[in-house]
Amino acid sequence: MMTPWRYSGSAMVQTTRIMPLDDEAIAEATLLVLAGEPVAVPTETVYGLAADATNAEAVARIYAAKGRPSFNPLIVHVPNLEAAERIGRFDAQARDLALQYWPGPLTLVVPLREDGGAKPVRGTGEQRHGIASIVTAGLETIALRVPAHAAMQALLKACGRPLAAPSANASGQISPTRASHVLASLGGRIPLIIDGGATQRGIESTIVAATDGSLRLLRRGPIEIEAAKQLASKAIEAPGQLASHYAPMKPLRLDATAAEPGEYLIGFGPVRGDVSLSERGDPVEAAARLFDLLHQADGAPAARIAIAPIPGDGIAAAIRDRLKRAAAPRV
Ligand code: AMP
Ligand code: MG
Repeated sequence: MMTPWRYSGSAMVQTTRIMPLDDEAIAEATLLVLAGEPVAVPTETVYGLAADATNAEAVARIYAAKGRPSFNPLIVHVPNLEAAERIGRFDAQARDLALQYWPGPLTLVVPLREDGGAKPVRGTGEQRHGIASIVTAGLETIALRVPAHAAMQALLKACGRPLAAPSANASGQISPTRASHVLASLGGRIPLIIDGGATQRGIESTIVAATDGSLRLLRRGPIEIEAAKQLASKAIEAPGQLASHYAPMKPLRLDATAAEPGEYLIGFGPVRGDVSLSERGDPVEAAARLFDLLHQADGAPAARIAIAPIPGDGIAAAIRDRLKRAAAPRV
């Protein structure tokens, strides 16, 4: 079933249902997720707002619902290590941590697999392993977690898809540990909250990067760092530094209404370009296509990239924020 989204300014108004965690709730959530809707679901850390990580527009709706002012890479939830290894490349240290702490509140950032599974998906350009590029915000690494909570595990199994899920709160608000917190923050913006009671841990997962042969702690969390440290060949620094934003290599000109010589124009709405973020001027579609088209423009023969204005608030503003940073001179 598809819940109709009604745009009223920047906010989408709809009825938010709360269902207690049971088979019926999981079945309903599964229908919604497979139809491209985000749903709120408890995990052992905080409530997550979960969407199909292979569906770029579904992931864009997470941003629309949260009102996030920019794009950050999201954590992808999978049912087990085997599923994780189909998406990311695990070295021995990463696998050791996964075996020790999964399922549980540990997120591992690993390189995205380049081999196999790549398939162009309609309207979204090239995708690896079906993971939409908006999920990693265009990065070559991916954050993966195997949650322990029965609700998220049941949803993952029923959907058969990896699920991208940041915390289920409006941007700038604190992470929700109860269904009532989610309702207060996102009521009217999402179709369903699964109520599994108060979350056990109440703080976000520990994040460790295993991208270059060493382990780095990116975010402190419920997992004991000392234990992780012992597994590291090099000392873990905290908090870790890792490129968290993709930017195109070429100069980027914003608010372009026509291409100048040597420019590859990314259009939007009435501005026709070499490609378009959304010919119908839909900011959710534009967000879903943003990183694929930036990569495409980077790979085109033209020396420079120009991009049409993306007017509006909400997710359109998030796109503009991301583009402004991509256009800023590198330091
Ligand atoms: P949240 O989903 O709001 O709990 O935040 C996810 C966290 O994971 C953020 O701090 C991100 O910067 C981090 N993260 C997710 N994916 C990556 C990645 N590919 N590389 C580095 N950090 C990541
Ligand atoms: Mg959060």
